[in-house]
Amino acid sequence: MSRYFSSSLSSLAPYTPGEQPQDLSSFIKLNTNENPYGPEKEMVEKAVAGMRKLNLYPDPSQNDLRLKIASLYKVAKENVTLSNGSDEMLLFCFLAFCPRGSVILTPDITYSFYNTLTSLLGLKTKEIPLLDDFRVDVDTFCREKGTVVIANPNALTGINLPLSDVERIISSDSNRICIIDEAYVDFGGESALPLIMKYPNVVVVRTFSKSRSLAGARLGYAFAGEELSEDIERVRNSINPYNINSFTLSAAMEKLQDEETTWRNIEEIRRVREYTSKELETFGFSVLPSSANFIFVSSPVLPGDMYYSELKKRGILIRHFTKERIASFSRITVGKREDMETLIRKTQEILNERI
Ligand SMILES: *Cc1c(COP(=O)(O)O)cnc(C)c1O
Repeated sequence: MSRYFSSSLSSLAPYTPGEQPQDLSSFIKLNTNENPYGPEKEMVEKAVAGMRKLNLYPDPSQNDLRLKIASLYKVAKENVTLSNGSDEMLLFCFLAFCPRGSVILTPDITYSFYNTLTSLLGLKTKEIPLLDDFRVDVDTFCREKGTVVIANPNALTGINLPLSDVERIISSDSNRICIIDEAYVDFGGESALPLIMKYPNVVVVRTFSKSRSLAGARLGYAFAGEELSEDIERVRNSINPYNINSFTLSAAMEKLQDEETTWRNIEEIRRVREYTSKELETFGFSVLPSSANFIFVSSPVLPGDMYYSELKKRGILIRHFTKERIASFSRITVGKREDMETLIRKTQEILNERI
């Protein structure tokens, strides 16, 4: 840190992304929850052909894509806002709704980028520990004061919080905003989208990075009532009115033309998730019930850091976390069937060597 670095950012805790090796041929990548399918070459070519010329700025109103998303989900364009990845939407929401020094309530085990944002913006995080079975402690969320940020299905665990529990938290205090991060909802979660018409204090954050295979294009979006959406737009237009580039606007339009392929891939990922969970369970792993495109697993004989490094030696990347409560766990993205078969084979090999 140079001596010029802003003193107000002295406690900044930048996010540590999963490894992104540039030589993809030497690794099976199961570490950052990317979608193993698509985008299809034909779709990308159409997106390039249909995009606004690059000498022009992209459309700052983003109307076409907002309308497209709105009609797909049966809401109005005024209920939809767009961001450069959903991480940026989280930034917009924190800026719009959380004054400096205010409190963010979030589970102790969740997406760590929330803490990065609180450190960036001078907010305070109050972690609400997950219950012993790694489920969200709904009663405590209802009782505590602060902006609620919950990933549902939860990041790291993959566990879905039932909609009735989400509604209980939202309705417990109409004076605070609840941000429901639904990055993984398409893989089997229950969406809080219907609640945006019923409650004025909920924002549902989504992304094209996971279920829609466009992590590299960086596109997030949010559903909220009209007033909250206007607030998000106010912030967006104060940071970067051109936050979605022309290619990404076009690629997302194309992606939404073919929902059938999207949902076929999602179904396959769910099948492969169940296959992988069962196989690992036969090796004595415990696997949390996942509604996402990853599984969170632990073995009684294989510490998380060792499983990670032994797999890496064998050309497979997974994610391991150092936080004490989950040090014995690993997070494994659900890839293609053949990649998961390789994972199972290598896991068997590692277990055999240790016995
Ligand atoms: C992946 C992920 C995001 C970020 O997605 P981008 O749209 O790629 O920025 C947000 N929240 C959770 C819980 C995620 O796992």
